[in-house]
Amino acid sequence: MAKEAAGSSGGPQPEQRSGPGVAPDNLMVKCPKCKEILYSRDWEKNLKVCSRCNYHFRLTAHERVNLLLDPGSFVELDAAMVSVDPLDFVSRSQSYAEKLQEEQAKVNLNEAAIRGYGTVEGLPLSLAVMDFRFIGGSMGSVVGEKVTRAIELGLERRWPVLVVSTSGGARMQEGFYSLLQMAKTAAALARLGEAHIPYFSLITDPTTGGVTASFAMLGDVILAEPGALIAFAGPRVIEQFMHVKLPEGTVNSEFVLQHGMIDAVVHRRELRATLARLLRLYKVPGATRAQQPASAAPQSQVEAATLLSRQSSQSRAEVGGGQDGLRS
Ligand SMILES: [Zn+2]
Repeated sequence: MAKEAAGSSGGPQPEQRSGPGVAPDNLMVKCPKCKEILYSRDWEKNLKVCSRCNYHFRLTAHERVNLLLDPGSFVELDAAMVSVDPLDFVSRSQSYAEKLQEEQAKVNLNEAAIRGYGTVEGLPLSLAVMDFRFIGGSMGSVVGEKVTRAIELGLERRWPVLVVSTSGGARMQEGFYSLLQMAKTAAALARLGEAHIPYFSLITDPTTGGVTASFAMLGDVILAEPGALIAFAGPRVIEQFMHVKLPEGTVNSEFVLQHGMIDAVVHRRELRATLARLLRLYKVPGATRAQQPASAAPQSQVEAATLLSRQSSQSRAEVGGGQDGLRS
């Protein structure tokens, strides 16, 4: 369930240093993996990758956009869309409505995903990018809606679609509305596959739960950053349930690559070139030029009902149909 916020705070963010081991406005950064002390300036030049052990620090959604797209080409859509509180959810300490407000102020984003379009080496694509800082990148109705709209813009313009995932799973505060997003995004991807438009999924650290179980794993090509935690249930949950200690590295990108669940593990500095190569390889005939304004411009008011009750043609589409999109 979603609505438009009165004032958007979803624009490009100032440079933010975030994630484990990072103190804001600090000259030095400590790598959480190898404990190496890194100069902030070198670390940023190295795209926030540890020069000693190759640990890929988490990026914010806007940092990710800057990394992947041509400079200045990103046009954000639906920045003002915010969650409503469909269940009037209250935890022991805080209501969901308060939690949302707190997170929006803290992270300076309206939700755990941004979406829009842009170009990579001049080639257009529609994309949605998640941000782990906002309630652990959890997927509520707004995240699901933004991902779905990114796919639908791809369908409308015949642009390839990219979704960059990082998520702790479905957002429990929205209950089954969160779970519905899995079916909604998968159904939209099935339609994209039927239209022979490619869908690329980039999985970053960490990606778990309902996001792993839906659009993150439905890519025609699935890429992941090195060392990213990728799982349905996180290692802690598995260990608690199975009462066994998991061997080191059983739920990371290298492991899922080895077991055929993804197509490649790509270093951050190679991501942009890899994406450009894929866009050239899977060029869609009849694609609209990126310079044209998209018709899916932000709306002043989005009715919650329209976000959840989608056309029956979508719900008929089978989950997993997006895998067929390579035929073009
Ligand atoms: Zn390191």
